[in-house]
Amino acid sequence: MSSTPRARVAFVGAGPGQADLITVRGAQRLQAADVVLFDSLADPALRALAPDARWIDVGKRGFAGVPHAPRGGRENTGQDTINALLVKHAQSGARVVRLKGGDPSVFGRLEEELEALAAAGLESEVVPGVTAALAAAATTQRPLTRRGAGRSVALTTAMTRDGELAAGRHADTESFYMAGKQLAALSRRLLEAGWPADTPVLVVSRAGWPDQIATEHVVATLGDATVLHSGRPTIVTVGVGATPIGASREPVDTCGASECASTGTASAAGLSNAHARAGMSTP
Ligand code: SAH
Repeated sequence: MSSTPRARVAFVGAGPGQADLITVRGAQRLQAADVVLFDSLADPALRALAPDARWIDVGKRGFAGVPHAPRGGRENTGQDTINALLVKHAQSGARVVRLKGGDPSVFGRLEEELEALAAAGLESEVVPGVTAALAAAATTQRPLTRRGAGRSVALTTAMTRDGELAAGRHADTESFYMAGKQLAALSRRLLEAGWPADTPVLVVSRAGWPDQIATEHVVATLGDATVLHSGRPTIVTVGVGATPIGASREPVDTCGASECASTGTASAAGLSNAHARAGMSTP
């Protein structure tokens, strides 16, 4: 079960959480790497797969999150620096892995990096990973599609390029990335977009990690999740895929009166006790 890397640069999805959520192929690319450019979301334990490689942190603090002075009328966000590093190391003859959290093709600025390599005439490959929305669905046992009721899934970012928050209604289940800091605003935008106020919402932060927190709400009360998930990478799942298993078929009232009132959903059965309690702590 091995595949040999042909390309100089492999974009590898690290998965959303602990190191063992990487794919077998991703692990093989890491083992073969001379240089690894990695993000802040990737598990540091992955270093064990390539202990002799040179690991370069291009995560938010060092690079992409720090805007530099505008250059030639265009903002240099640090992405240019990452592109240049990729090209430089690949041209030096090193085998380069660009390790990205989750899946490289989902909100990972992959197009810019692919373009930079193509422009330099360098071959690359993309190794997929488990994106955060899928990890959130897996760990809370809330399938994103449901027979009959959940026929479509949208992976959406609520953040526009200029930092505004936007939301629409694109699918039966919609998973929002990068909205954790603005849950109250997201709640308002979802209502404006036509989601009914009592639509179930599942909020999962640090999905796939031992300290994951998962809480349930409805669109109107989503702002209540702000404090619990503050400062953590967060997925907000809205719609059919946010409901616990069995809830739509046989609504059983398994929570206490105040708990049900706080969430507007019938059950927290899919969440662990700790998570369910956290979810029910809202007024
Ligand atoms: N390529 C990544 C997404 C990068 S954008 C992927 O496929 O998952 C960064 C956003 O992803 C975060 O703001 C958050 O919304 C989400 N995210 C990444 N890892 C997460 C995790 N472990 N738990 C919850 N959300 C996560």
